[in-house]
Amino acid sequence: MMQIKESIIQLAPYEVPQDAKIKLNQNESPYDIPVEDKQEILERLKNPNWNRYPQGDPEKLKNAIADYTGHSPDGILIGNGSNELILSIMLATCDKGDDITLITPGFAIYPYIGNILNLKITEVPLKKDFSFDADMLRSNSHKSRLIIFASPNNPTGTAMEIADIEEIVKKCDSLVVVDEAYYEFHTKTCQHLLTKCENLLILRTFSKAFGLAGIRLGYLLGNPEFVRQIAKAKLPFSVGIFQQISAEYLLGKKQLIKETVEKIIAERERLFRQMSNIREISPVRSHANFILFGLKKKTAKETFEKLYEKGILVRRFNHSALKNMLRVTIGTTEENRIFLQNLREVF
Ligand code: PMP
Repeated sequence: MMQIKESIIQLAPYEVPQDAKIKLNQNESPYDIPVEDKQEILERLKNPNWNRYPQGDPEKLKNAIADYTGHSPDGILIGNGSNELILSIMLATCDKGDDITLITPGFAIYPYIGNILNLKITEVPLKKDFSFDADMLRSNSHKSRLIIFASPNNPTGTAMEIADIEEIVKKCDSLVVVDEAYYEFHTKTCQHLLTKCENLLILRTFSKAFGLAGIRLGYLLGNPEFVRQIAKAKLPFSVGIFQQISAEYLLGKKQLIKETVEKIIAERERLFRQMSNIREISPVRSHANFILFGLKKKTAKETFEKLYEKGILVRRFNHSALKNMLRVTIGTTEENRIFLQNLREVF
């Protein structure tokens, strides 16, 4: 094992349980793609040659994303899930020992990759109510090559004010990456800053609002020259024809996506109200497709296990700030009903 580097040996594997009747632990969409749309995608997959590599810089898909976002295609980079793009950004910007700034508690993949690459990680804690501490982030930013955070944040669902993001991006020289994986559920974006600020990149994904976590596709929006440089640190041909064709097809289904997002937002608000009425828990208001909640009387471990026995999988954490908290992804109306009923039964 001496051939394996120390940072890997020290790392806990990134594992998430995936077996449950009611799966509310990975912030996926509860709505699968309609069968007729799957059929159409499969039909379209018959056209390209499977013996050939996919287009490395898929023009049609980039144009469809440009149309969806309003950002120019030459400032778009497509990746095998936004996770691949997070890795590419870190590879393109940081050498061993470089400092990156994260928010904590935040998305676990940033420190995971940062640790593999032996980066120095500065963690800026969220405030007690899980709102962002923009001042602290700003004052830390000058020494970092890279500041990366999600807004809305995973796992808290809280979001940073766009004016605060602007202030940070304008006042520091670091590259600022705002991960907008949950943008469609928040409906607010800092995309307009891209024209003014070169040092800003925005990450998005097809895994949440588009209901395509299974295909693995994410994209980056940024200044074209910056994006060209990041692209060099991404594996060539990492986005296959299935990803390209299905995402391109679904970008044409704007009404379906819009209705799905509206349903999930309405369910989130309903679930939040109902959870607020349960005395034993304290839910955190969310701008994403999940709700983090604190447990006042039982432990997170016990509650998690009792729900799991009933076939309901939610997310629990090791982080000290989330010691007695769980996160539930917004499911269908029926899944949310069963979750709530079982949660009440636990108490
Ligand atoms: N960013 C955030 C903030 C996330 O929560 C997730 C998924 N949990 C991702 C990125 C990963 O997205 P993808 O499936 O595109 O790799």
